[in-house]
Amino acid sequence: MITPRFKTSKPPRQRSTGTAEARTATRRNARGRCQADGLHVDDCPGSDLDEAFVAHRVNPGRQGGTYDPANMIWVYNGGTGLGAGGCHQNIHSNGRLARVLGLLSEGSDDPWHGIGIDLGRQEGFLQ
Ligand SMILES: [Zn+2]
Repeated sequence: MITPRFKTSKPPRQRSTGTAEARTATRRNARGRCQADGLHVDDCPGSDLDEAFVAHRVNPGRQGGTYDPANMIWVYNGGTGLGAGGCHQNIHSNGRLARVLGLLSEGSDDPWHGIGIDLGRQEGFLQ
């Protein structure tokens, strides 16, 4: 007898964006402005009036980063509302630059985090 193989359906992927409180605090700390300084897209609206913004975790979850406002910045997420867009996507597509700018961190002890572009180049981390 053949044992039937049941396909277990995966639970729908949850895209957690943190608690409403943490998001509100992040927005308030930023005064509604996009904080992706150095990695704004050309059409960044600057502030979140009628635009899609998200709370981005500087130290991401896979690196143990939490949804704590101290670990979050307020960034423009593009016009579509789908996935990461705008300055938020720019941060994730330019990881090394984002790290020296302090917008992204590989763990809480990332030696490149926030060192600045000049030092990043000097040390050969950036081209
Ligand atoms: Zn921006």
